[in-house]
Amino acid sequence: MSYRETGLSVYGHKCELCGFSVVEVHHIGYQLHTEWENKIRSKYKAGEDMSLILEEVKALGFLSWNGQDLSKDNRSTNLAVLCGNCHSLVHLFDAGMNLLKALPKRI
Ligand SMILES: [Zn+2]
Ligand SMILES: [Zn+2]
Repeated sequence: MSYRETGLSVYGHKCELCGFSVVEVHHIGYQLHTEWENKIRSKYKAGEDMSLILEEVKALGFLSWNGQDLSKDNRSTNLAVLCGNCHSLVHLFDAGMNLLKALPKRI
């Protein structure tokens, strides 16, 4: 199942913030993903041993590194269903984990 299908099947097909019915699926912890991906890329570039850091990120839900990109945390607890407008605002204000304050509990 794609993360989009996971998000929609768990949280429904309406924006969780405003109720609009054309939706996208957002990764709540996207900032954490970027941070770790940058760390891993610099280790990789430097030719350092990757085994420890890859174990560490696996525990955070980032399951694989393909030499270029770190996979995202696609577990339902990290997803939110948002319309295009709300989704843009979340990124514009770089809301990160603060979005959890506005959402029903993740399951
Ligand atoms: Zn919305
Ligand atoms: Zn997003």
